[in-house]
Amino acid sequence: MVKFTVGIDLGGTNIKAVLVDQNNEVKGYLKRAVQAELGPREVTRQMMGMVYTLLGENKLVPADLRGLGLGVPGLVDRREEKAVFLPNLPGWHHIPLGQWIREELDVPLLLDNDVRMAAWGEKLLGAGRGWDDMVCITVGTGIGAGIFLQGKMFRGHGESAGEIGHMTVEKDGLLCTCGNQGCLEMYASGRAIARKARELVKQKGFNLILELVEGDEARITAATVARAAELGDSKAQGIIEEAARYLGIGLANLANILNPRRIVIGGGVAGMGERLLGPVREVVQARAMPVNRDVEIVAAQLGELAGALGAALVARCRLADGKEKLKEI
Ligand SMILES: [Zn+2]
Repeated sequence: MVKFTVGIDLGGTNIKAVLVDQNNEVKGYLKRAVQAELGPREVTRQMMGMVYTLLGENKLVPADLRGLGLGVPGLVDRREEKAVFLPNLPGWHHIPLGQWIREELDVPLLLDNDVRMAAWGEKLLGAGRGWDDMVCITVGTGIGAGIFLQGKMFRGHGESAGEIGHMTVEKDGLLCTCGNQGCLEMYASGRAIARKARELVKQKGFNLILELVEGDEARITAATVARAAELGDSKAQGIIEEAARYLGIGLANLANILNPRRIVIGGGVAGMGERLLGPVREVVQARAMPVNRDVEIVAAQLGELAGALGAALVARCRLADGKEKLKEI
């Protein structure tokens, strides 16, 4: 009996791949820097190379695979199995990913957006387990969400639901890459936190951040700000709190619209833990309608494995059943 599934999480920086058995146990995990500059074809070969490495390490062959799940960072045409547009990877426009993958590996494929795959991971194995009305938010370079209503993923009529990073939180705010002004992503994402720190570095008295990047402003990331806050820097803590307040406004809006039982926050920025989540909860308690304040806001549990694990689990279930029969896992 075929028991194994592979899940891949293609990111703008890294590719992560997991091999999972029928008990959801991870039998192998690989993380490699994505060779984005070589173009989509080579990146596809790189991903398939990782699948073959995982199989080889476990003395398996492609026939031992029930399926392959793949999450990509951008817009996906699931029916045509195409990566329509991946903004953080050069050259990824209307790529026939399904066809290319089959040329390298003949197994059933399930393609979806990376944020949704991570949301499935948390829903099936992580902090969202057991909750039917749940939103899983990824706060990283950008901000996106997988929305579950009554146990099912809500995709919207054109499959673009969940773009909460582009919710307006400032009427005349900063211009966003989407063309709108004042999007949440411009104030609460990893990129926004790093930008704010760079602005403050130009003023006097923010030396710790500069020390941490050895004087190179271009190297400042959200992780640098988090580190400075851990070391007791009040300005760094202030930047995080401001981002958290904007995130709280976004989540209060979300709570009022959807009334979810639980909101799970994952992604790189969520690694800041209570430093971020504390102020987020305070704002939600202050701004959401009283009837919607019972929403639980918790940290994701699967860390950087969420996307790849979600891809593997969803692929196994959906490919096996031919429909969204996922509640039993
Ligand atoms: Zn936007």
